[in-house]
Amino acid sequence: MTPKVNRRTKIVATIGPGSESAGMIAKLIAAGVDVFRLNFSHGTARNHIKVSQQIRKQAAIAGRYVGILADLQGPKIRISSFRDDSVELSGGDRFRLDLSIGEGEGTLHGVGLDYRELADNVDRGDILLLDDGRIRLCVDDVEAGAVNCTVLIGGKLSSRKGINKLGGGLAAPALTTKDIKDIDSLAEVRPDFVAVSFVSSAADIQLTRELLARHQMLPAIIAKIERAEVVADEDTLSSIIEEATGIMVARGDLGVEVGDAQLIGIQKDLIARARRMDRVVITATQMMESMISNSQPTRAEVFDVANAVLDGTDAVMLSAETAVGQFPVEVVKAMADAALGAERHPMATTSKYRLEKRFDSAQETIAFSAIYAANHYSNVRGIACLTESGTTPLLMSRLSSGLPIFALSNNSATLQKLSLCRGVIPLFFDAEAFDEVSLESRAIEFLLDDGYLQKNDSIILTRGEIIGRSGSTNILKILTAA
Ligand code: PGA
Ligand code: MN
Repeated sequence: MTPKVNRRTKIVATIGPGSESAGMIAKLIAAGVDVFRLNFSHGTARNHIKVSQQIRKQAAIAGRYVGILADLQGPKIRISSFRDDSVELSGGDRFRLDLSIGEGEGTLHGVGLDYRELADNVDRGDILLLDDGRIRLCVDDVEAGAVNCTVLIGGKLSSRKGINKLGGGLAAPALTTKDIKDIDSLAEVRPDFVAVSFVSSAADIQLTRELLARHQMLPAIIAKIERAEVVADEDTLSSIIEEATGIMVARGDLGVEVGDAQLIGIQKDLIARARRMDRVVITATQMMESMISNSQPTRAEVFDVANAVLDGTDAVMLSAETAVGQFPVEVVKAMADAALGAERHPMATTSKYRLEKRFDSAQETIAFSAIYAANHYSNVRGIACLTESGTTPLLMSRLSSGLPIFALSNNSATLQKLSLCRGVIPLFFDAEAFDEVSLESRAIEFLLDDGYLQKNDSIILTRGEIIGRSGSTNILKILTAA
């Protein structure tokens, strides 16, 4: 038996009408989805609960730890609706955004919106981007409750499309009334991750955590970085990353606000920062956009996924590709192939990072020493990490390596959260069921039986003297599978 090929980069797939059936969820898990995203910008809370139960069921059948990420809508600012559902704007047209135009009353001359602060947050000369930047307006003048614009780039504009301002600054508090209600409904989803959209400060994360705690939920919180003003402010950005468990490089909204050319460097910087601060990172949006309607990706899309992998992302995300696309299974496979291709490059398997760093704890010392040893000793096939909280495998996976990190735990919440962590394979193993003498050999047998190791392979094992106590890792051994 040849050992299993393990993809290190995790795949997050958004569930939608095209993928929410039991059969499709099973196929997507088999194709390699590690985490499903429930997008609370669409669908009802009821339906998200139903889908989440189906995901848990199919993951159990497949015997895999598959995460659920609940993505709150956040204060996305949108226009209201048109009389005929859409209008066709042309360059040079005048167009008015006006709080007093009601729902369903929009015309070629203007449309309503429910963003009271509009007039306070835009100035003459600002560029407004509608429908993910497809339509551009220039602000000519600002009145109380309305702005008059000239269309720079026209096109079809339909009801309820989003608005961004070039450079950012259309701010509204991060948690809306809908988000707070959705958090209540999460008590029945019990997600492993909750994503907060349009985060503007660390306080947004704290508030989300508090609201979740009221329902005894302790999910990992992912801060979506999608406001230009957040990436422009060093202190705000680092306090947000510090407060969250991880971040999403939300290229959809962020790219519209900063421009794609700027986004290239920002993506690299955000990924590096997250890893440096021991946080996880998801790279999202339009990674394989053409596969919404084509059965194969373009080469540019393959390279976009590969580039994010080489940048060091933990996970790559599919949005419309799996939510409404025609080829949900094919796109997951194509993404997995692209990631595997990138992972073969030495840039992804070696690490010079943190060589100068001084460590703060025994746990950190063991974690990084294990990766150093694994990367430099050619007999080693992987790292078996007996873990309670998941911190040791998380730390290990902040360094690049070509070898799998087997996170062995009896804590299912820990294992679920590790589904997002690059290079980590979460496996149920109850160390407390064995005595001190047989524990290590039982761990090796377990990996042999599951096909992760072969006889005579060496493996690095880490654990704490006292099993079951988090943060106590202080042992590193090199063992051989006999
Ligand atoms: P969204 O977030 O898909 O919820 O908008 C991701 C992004 O903006 O890229
Ligand atoms: Mn977004």
